[in-house]
Amino acid sequence: MVLPAVETVNLKKTYYLGKVRVPALRGVSVKFFPGEMAVIMGPSGSGKTTLLNLMGTFDRPTSGKIYLDGQDLTRMSEGELTRLRREKIGFVFQFYNLIPVLTAYENLELPMLIAGKPKEERRSRTEELLRLVGLSQRAHHRPDELSGGEQQRVAIGRALANRPSLLLADEPTGDLDTKTGREVVEVLRRAAKEEGVAVIVVTHDPKVAERADRVLEIRDGRIVGERRNRG
Ligand code: ADP
Ligand code: MG
Repeated sequence: MVLPAVETVNLKKTYYLGKVRVPALRGVSVKFFPGEMAVIMGPSGSGKTTLLNLMGTFDRPTSGKIYLDGQDLTRMSEGELTRLRREKIGFVFQFYNLIPVLTAYENLELPMLIAGKPKEERRSRTEELLRLVGLSQRAHHRPDELSGGEQQRVAIGRALANRPSLLLADEPTGDLDTKTGREVVEVLRRAAKEEGVAVIVVTHDPKVAERADRVLEIRDGRIVGERRNRG
């Protein structure tokens, strides 16, 4: 029995806009495992970002439970959540948010500097990450000297730097053309397979879904379907 990287149990989230209740999640129970790449699809407004934000500890559920590596997030203080977020969760967004004055190498190294990792460990991990995301030849370029796809690959490497259990990506190919998007998806897949991280990707793109191990369909705040791709 492998412990899920993250598990939600009857997760509900209701927003209030003045007096109007907006039920964004209506009871989601799902598990994601180490080394697995899962995709979440569904129409706009169905609750995808809400689910990612709750698993990412950016927000708290109205009810239900979330376990990260077996630890109950809903019982943790803000301080504990901040530490856990830094140590166990990597985030990738549609826009890359790299630091413009730093090279690809320096952007990858930065999370390890912040975490106080020793110099030699930072160097070998940064080189490993450059290989993983296929940018060893671009190490000393700044973001404005890289293509959109290359910048997103740096962002993925940065999210992996401190070896999280969970990598959350919200529309990571939303701003990229098909071919470039495909390269980004292959890097996410490699992250799952080579690093053993649980990768969860929200996307509209069926081409992205084809490369996942599992595809979950969310509608109106509920998971309404799931399929498993070959292999
Ligand atoms: P998706 O990412 O699938 O497009 P979201 O999770 O962003 O969907 O939103 C789900 C529902 O919750 C939508 O009806 C949306 O309008 C609502 N919602 C999301 N965030 C907020 C918020 N901060 N305040 C109020 N309503 C919100
Ligand atoms: Mg969204």
